[in-house]
Amino acid sequence: MKEYTNLPFVQALQREEEILWINEKKQGFNEELLEVKASDIEDAEERLNRFAPFIQMSFPETEEAFGIIESKLQKIPKMKAYLNEKYDGKIEGELLVKLDSHLPIAGSIKARGGIYEVLKHTEDLALEEGLLTLEENYEKLASKEMRKFFGQHTIQVGSTGNLGLSIGISSAAIGYKVIVHMSSDAKQWKKDLLRSHGVTVKEYEDDYSKAVEEGRKESNQDPKSYFIDDENSKNLFMGYAVAARRLETQLIEMGQTIDEEHPLFVYIPCGVGGAPGGVTFGLKEIFQDNVHCFFVEPTQAPCMTLGMGTGLHNAISVKDIGLTGITDADGLAVGRPSGFVGRVMEPLLSGIFTLKDDKLYQYMKALYEREKVFIEPSAAAAFEGVVGLLNSPEGKEYIRNNGLENKMAKGIHIPWATGGRLVPDSIRKEYLSRGL
Ligand SMILES: *Cc1c(COP(=O)(O)O)cnc(C)c1O
Repeated sequence: MKEYTNLPFVQALQREEEILWINEKKQGFNEELLEVKASDIEDAEERLNRFAPFIQMSFPETEEAFGIIESKLQKIPKMKAYLNEKYDGKIEGELLVKLDSHLPIAGSIKARGGIYEVLKHTEDLALEEGLLTLEENYEKLASKEMRKFFGQHTIQVGSTGNLGLSIGISSAAIGYKVIVHMSSDAKQWKKDLLRSHGVTVKEYEDDYSKAVEEGRKESNQDPKSYFIDDENSKNLFMGYAVAARRLETQLIEMGQTIDEEHPLFVYIPCGVGGAPGGVTFGLKEIFQDNVHCFFVEPTQAPCMTLGMGTGLHNAISVKDIGLTGITDADGLAVGRPSGFVGRVMEPLLSGIFTLKDDKLYQYMKALYEREKVFIEPSAAAAFEGVVGLLNSPEGKEYIRNNGLENKMAKGIHIPWATGGRLVPDSIRKEYLSRGL
């Protein structure tokens, strides 16, 4: 028997229990402990600013924001009242939802990391070929000649759905050939939507790790093909991290302060880890010890909990402890976490919640009925964070151990809604009919 099967949290995962795993390796914020730096985020932010005129031109839905792909931060008082009525542990401070579910172009948090990496690759190619300088207006990249140049290149990616959508839609708009390798979890409508954009979709009767492996292999055989590697990509990670500074601005605009007396709690659904990891890294750089970041995973696919908790990171899969990796939360249906992200998160992350699939629909339906905001099941997982922190023994202990008891009334909770806008009407209806 493997040693890790003696660990109580592993046994709880094997019993498919909903747990809160607390990260005992978290430390006071210290950038020196990290292999990634604030300057990496600045670099990504500047790149996105250079691309803004091009994005605005290529994606009319970004016109209002002048080519900046960003989402709203919104108060949800009716959802707060609902949760406070239903659960004993009350939300005393503010409850705000971050609506990445409604991000332009891709309708999910993948519009941050995925599109950023496509743009970075585009800039690299154009610079290398002498077709662009950093000082020029990037609208130039939308010209016919440029499209022809990018059309000689291919972009490939492995995906459970949303990453494929973000990379497929953005790459096709720039002119690339695109191949998306989809795991068996991917929803049919996501494959259909991609094909309607001229993207080649390859389907596998296997999980996400297999789709990535096949994609990587196929891409490596073609010198003009670039593989976007969700399991290891620092570029994706930085694209996500840019969210934090923009969130800081939104909080200031709403008159919300984050400091020692006003702690911030953020809850982000986790698949392979890139999206929640990047956002967490960005937030810790800004708010340091005054922000408490938690991930949320399905009980059948708790890959980051398992990887970080055992310290084995990507050397362990949920299948090794007898779980299937199968969940309705398709965006989170990942059996093996990113080792890169898990290691960066070690000194930063507060903990990880797991939840059962039924709950996804409950939170999704409540948010829709109370606030008229539709999010997809994967995104609804975020709400388990708020409820779990305030109601579980481990959550209450975390609050005590971190000296937060007297600060909760002034705290701010942000469940990060990671996807939903592109879900077709017929499927929305089906999901909503399942909310218990
Ligand atoms: C991809 C995704 C996540 C998690 O992102 P990872 O980088 O895979 O951890 C969460 N929610 C939704 C809706 C997603 O599509």
